[in-house]
Amino acid sequence: MLKRFFPDLYVDSIYDIPYDMLQKKQIKGLIFDIDNTLVPFDVKMGDEKLTFHFQRLADAGFVICLVSNNSKERVHIFNQNLGVEAIHKAKKPLTKNFKKAMKIMGTTPITTAIIGDQVFTDVWGGNRIGIMSILVRPVVERDEWITKIKRGLEKKILKIYLQKSTKEKKNE
Ligand SMILES: [Mg+2]
Repeated sequence: MLKRFFPDLYVDSIYDIPYDMLQKKQIKGLIFDIDNTLVPFDVKMGDEKLTFHFQRLADAGFVICLVSNNSKERVHIFNQNLGVEAIHKAKKPLTKNFKKAMKIMGTTPITTAIIGDQVFTDVWGGNRIGIMSILVRPVVERDEWITKIKRGLEKKILKIYLQKSTKEKKNE
C-alpha cells in the first residue's frame, strides 16, 4: 500500500505549518529533519529567521529534537546556534531514533510530529510508529546523490497523494 508513504500534512515550508492546529491536537514534541528541511544540504548553519522561529516554537511550549541521517559533525555544527536536542546518523526510516527523540522530549507518538522533506525517510519512518508526519517541500532543488535517486519515485507517490487529497477535499 502506498498509504504508508503519505504524509498527514504537506506544506511548502516549516514556516507554513499550522502550529496552533498542532497544539490543539496536543502535539508537544517536534522532530525536525535538517538537510533540505531547515537548510540546503550543503549549507552549514541556519539563518536568523530559523533561530527566531525555533525560539518562538520553544516559547509556545514545543520541545524540539533534530533527527538527521547525517554525520555527527554536520549535526553538531548546524546545532551550534540553535542548541536544541539532536540525534545524528539516525538511520531513518528505522524508528529507533524517533523513539529515542520522544524519550528525550518526554513525548509519546500521539504528542509528537516529524517534519521532513523526504517521503522514504521522514514520512515513512514517522508513519511506522504512528507519529504525525509533516512533509515540506525541499528548500532547494539541489540534493545529495543518494537523495537524487529517490526523488523520482517520491514524485510519483506525491502525485497520487495530491490527487487523492484533492478528491477528498472535493467530497467534503
Ligand atoms: Mg532531508
